[in-house]
Amino acid sequence: MLVVGGGYAGFRLYSASQSNSIAPIQQWFSDVASRRALITMRNQVACPGAPFILPSDGFIGLLWNDPAGPYTLLNTHTGVDIFGDGEPGEVPVYAAYDGYLTRLDSWFSTVIIRHDDPLQPGRIIWTYYTHMAARDGEESFIAPEFPPGTHGVWVTQGTLLGYQGEYAGEGARPIGLHLHFSIVQSEPDGAFKNESRVANTLDPSPYLGMPVAITGFPERPINCES
Ligand SMILES: [Zn+2]
Repeated sequence: MLVVGGGYAGFRLYSASQSNSIAPIQQWFSDVASRRALITMRNQVACPGAPFILPSDGFIGLLWNDPAGPYTLLNTHTGVDIFGDGEPGEVPVYAAYDGYLTRLDSWFSTVIIRHDDPLQPGRIIWTYYTHMAARDGEESFIAPEFPPGTHGVWVTQGTLLGYQGEYAGEGARPIGLHLHFSIVQSEPDGAFKNESRVANTLDPSPYLGMPVAITGFPERPINCES
């Protein structure tokens, strides 16, 4: 029984109770002096035994499959949100793993990279990086090497892709500075699936060597699995 009473508002509250992300996110934005205690700093060094590097350093706030608002249990978060400590255009974003980078003509703040899945060789997966632009849509923070229309350009792990921003799309409500990073499954022909549905994504935890799924309510800052 998900909703005892209160209709949709009750459902939102119940969803929020299934996450431990809201309090530290509020703390991050309301108490800047406390930020250091929330930050995961890897400096592009993968966790022991993990294939991917953390693509950006910062506070790993919203987790994979997280139902915290604005998400709900019916529409959970598809990746991880890494909140960088800096200004828009300052916090670097790196390729998590070797692969072929694509940026569609219409993508202002987003790139995607195709990989041979290091945990399941022979399977194609994609890593997705977004919000790399200024809030007002005036300036993209994606590296100039990857203009709109880039298709299948080889990049190695640690390649600079751009910088964290606050852009969430034309007319979207403002967001705090962060990188949204997710791992997207492929269609039978290898094309990436719709990233906005969690069922089309993978838990990044085994790729990063970190507990970044909401399951288990990991404490922040998140560290490498021991
Ligand atoms: Zn996100």
